[in-house]
Amino acid sequence: MTARILDGAALARQIRSEMGQRAGVLASRGHQPGLAVILVGDDPASSVYVKHKVTDCHEAGIRSILDHLPADTSEAMLLARIHDLNNDPAVHGILVQMPLPPHLNPQRVIEAISPLKDVDCFHVSNVGALMTGAPRFMPCTPYGVMKLLEHAGVPLAGAHAVVVGRSNIVGKPQAMLLLQASATVTICHSRTRDLADHCRRADILVAAVGRAQMITGDMIKPGAVVIDVGMNRVPSGPRAGKLCGDVDFDSAAPVAGAITPVPGGVGPMTRAMLLVNTVEAADRAAGADQNR
Ligand code: NDP
Repeated sequence: MTARILDGAALARQIRSEMGQRAGVLASRGHQPGLAVILVGDDPASSVYVKHKVTDCHEAGIRSILDHLPADTSEAMLLARIHDLNNDPAVHGILVQMPLPPHLNPQRVIEAISPLKDVDCFHVSNVGALMTGAPRFMPCTPYGVMKLLEHAGVPLAGAHAVVVGRSNIVGKPQAMLLLQASATVTICHSRTRDLADHCRRADILVAAVGRAQMITGDMIKPGAVVIDVGMNRVPSGPRAGKLCGDVDFDSAAPVAGAITPVPGGVGPMTRAMLLVNTVEAADRAAGADQNR
């Protein structure tokens, strides 16, 4: 068997175009969606991510504000800036690019963002809403994975989903969204015994580990759907330095039923879902205005 490729780049393109149309309608009613992105310091990877987010907004007709603050910005200054953006009616989404310089407390910074504008879905009240099954926002990466599965017509109810990784931004919310879709979910992590055995039981395997090509074909159940969230660099060999996932694509693709490539799988979906969350937030704000 050779796995069907789940083309995240194509689906993300479609979603971006839909968001462009929705943003246009909102703008014509005087509610152009707006996203504020705060970058503190000059981390090269963060600068690239932020640039992509701003470009995506521009292409979809979403107004973006990029606040590039110096690395030595004090926490008080950063919180004051977030406070201003919370009160700016033209801003519907606020995100602070992580990681922050070490003198800034990421949790305090995230909690300063209005939950109504927390398009990353990191604020504790939005995480709580997600847990109870009434989400205001969904975190972009797990949301993108759910959209990919939905688009591919993968049945989730009753399926056994194994999520490898338990971070707050990917693994945990991913497991929660799969559970809410009635999958039976196993969460694995660095202390899990016999990871391969767990993985081999998965109808749907989501790898969010951050270890290049760690999940190999012999860890995959024949016909399983494999979602590779990882973004790593190939450590050695002829492809050294190139982008790769947590899954060893070459050994996994002949076994899996469907698989996301890296690049071109989950990454573009994550970017597209940020636009979805921003447009949703603008839509809600426009509705609230109308009901006033
Ligand atoms: P974290 O480092 O926060 O979490 C990694 C998780 O993997 C942890 O829960 C850790 O377990 C677990 N883990 C580490 N080693 C092993 C192992 N040997 N066996 C089993 N589990 C292990 O990473 P993130 O969740 O932030 O990101 C994961 C990957 O996804 C990274 O490659 C990142 O770059 C990528 N990513 C991609 C995105 C995209 O848009 N495509 C978006 C966000 C992230 P423990 O908790 O026990 O330490």
